[in-house]
Amino acid sequence: MCLCHGSLYPDHDLIPSRYLTRVGDIEVMVISDGAVGVPAEGLGINVDPAERDATLRSKFLPEVVDWGMNVIVIRSGGRTILVDAGTGSEMPQSTRTGRLALRLKAAGIEPGSVTDVIATHLHMDHIGGLLDERLRSHMRPDLRIHASAIDLEFFKSPDFSHNTFGGLQDIIRSSSQKFLDAYQSELRPFTKEFQVAPGVVVTHTGGHTPGHSVVRVSSRGERLTFAGDALVPLGIECPEWQNGFDHEPEEATRVRVGLLREAAESGELFMASHLSFPALGRVAVDGNAYRYVPATWAY
Ligand SMILES: [Zn+2]
Repeated sequence: MCLCHGSLYPDHDLIPSRYLTRVGDIEVMVISDGAVGVPAEGLGINVDPAERDATLRSKFLPEVVDWGMNVIVIRSGGRTILVDAGTGSEMPQSTRTGRLALRLKAAGIEPGSVTDVIATHLHMDHIGGLLDERLRSHMRPDLRIHASAIDLEFFKSPDFSHNTFGGLQDIIRSSSQKFLDAYQSELRPFTKEFQVAPGVVVTHTGGHTPGHSVVRVSSRGERLTFAGDALVPLGIECPEWQNGFDHEPEEATRVRVGLLREAAESGELFMASHLSFPALGRVAVDGNAYRYVPATWAY
């Protein structure tokens, strides 16, 4: 399989890579770590391939679908919280990711100003950036890394029996091991839920990985949910489609549908790691499925 795609923009500066929004009093900046092309067979592994291909065509999507790599930086209560960290150099075959260190710098965010990291789960495209020396060597000694106790245990010896999308399992295994070794003293495991800062709560969902978690930001009656990998491209329009990266596919579907239902009812801002940058939008009910309504950019 091929995750490499030449970029149209070799200097990576001609495309937007950060977007700042507010949720009440809380500042949320979306930063793009880049994008990875994922072959379409990684999506909808439980549906008929002809149906899957027809759906892709109807959405004008190619056979290799670009997955955005979105990270957020939240500022609340004097804390600066990085939610996920992109791939770093853990996916060497992917030439369009691993930009987080450069893009934090471009956004004026010093790695040493980050007080907390939330890892939605321990896949390499969410923790790899923390292994990048350009970030790691500048992190403060009292950094706190919040991750589900379940994932911290699971990734000591991960089970890939339901994770059908081959080719990345060795990287997932080695990256999570390096992460666990490198950040032992910074890890702050949580079980169900933990408030990292005022209005910033990480909540365990399971599904994509056993310890997968989402982040909720709320202030002054406004709310944003960062759904991590509870859904990936086409996950809103086709919520029953399982993807080949889910460790617990059926549970992942229940989690996805639950989050979408909640987002549609509340009208809150909703984003997920792998939607197209800046991945900010809302979810609307559309018959038996859902429809994504991108948020209007605020200039
Ligand atoms: Zn991911």
